[in-house]
Amino acid sequence: MTARVLNGKELAEQVRATVRAGVADFVKAHGRAPGLDVIIVGEDAASVVYTRNKEKAALEVGMRGNLHRLPAQTGEAELLAIILRLNDDPSVDGILVQLPLPKHIDSDKVILAIDPSKDVDGFHPVNAGQLAIGRADRALVPCTPRGCMKLLALAGTPLAGARAVVIGRSNIVGKPVAQLLLAEHATVTIAHSRTRDLPAVCREADVLIAAVGKPEMVRGDWVKAGAVVIDVGINRVSDSANPGKTRLVGDVAYDEAAERAGAITPVPGGVGPLTIACLLENTLLSAKRRAG
Ligand code: NAD
Repeated sequence: MTARVLNGKELAEQVRATVRAGVADFVKAHGRAPGLDVIIVGEDAASVVYTRNKEKAALEVGMRGNLHRLPAQTGEAELLAIILRLNDDPSVDGILVQLPLPKHIDSDKVILAIDPSKDVDGFHPVNAGQLAIGRADRALVPCTPRGCMKLLALAGTPLAGARAVVIGRSNIVGKPVAQLLLAEHATVTIAHSRTRDLPAVCREADVLIAAVGKPEMVRGDWVKAGAVVIDVGINRVSDSANPGKTRLVGDVAYDEAAERAGAITPVPGGVGPLTIACLLENTLLSAKRRAG
């Protein structure tokens, strides 16, 4: 069997087009564009690119995007003061603080300071709690997990009663995607670094989601025939075909897994593009809710 490739780039374009239309309607109704404020502290190269892309994506769909680039030595109190100012600013619908933060800043404190109704990353305990009690409709749900669910919808996988295995238990991906699968009535196992006989656990899965950060850890013979495989991992490895160069791979050994899976996401071009598209969706949703 050769798996169907789930094209995240194309799907993300569709999501962005829908958001663009929603933004135009919002502007007509409320006389202002939804606003996304992105804060980065320090100069981590990958984070700088991610935050620029987020600001750019907001502008492209007609939102007001604002990138706050703060020096690495910015103090915690200063960052918190900026967040409180944005919380109080009615033109701001989404506040995103790029993680990781420098070590001298307590990320938990920063996340707690964001108004939950503007927490477009969905990391505030109020949003995580709403999701955990089955009220995703009241929450802002983290973007990458939402992207995974859109890819599963594209695959057409029936989730009710299906066995889903999520590898990884982070607050950003593993736990929230497990909650979303549970809300769709899947039987969910969350596997992690202490899971015994992980390959055997994975072989049970009709839906396998890998969010680990270990290049090509999931081998082809871990995949049940016909399963849907969603690869969240983004790992940069040296490219043996091009000495001195690097390439991106996921947490799944793609070629091997594609031999057995029914559908699979590539890396790059799978989950990645949906993360920013879902961030835009969350910002529009926040704007609409806050406008009543
Ligand atoms: P994390 O480091 O916070 O969590 C990794 C999880 O993997 C942990 O829960 C850990 O228990 C588990 N784990 C580690 N080693 C394991 C092993 N040997 N066997 C089983 N489980 C193991 O990472 P994260 O933030 O959840 O991100 C995971 C991956 O997803 C990373 O590669 C990250 O770059 C990527 N990511 C991609 C996007 C995207 O937009 N596509 C967004 C967020 C994260």
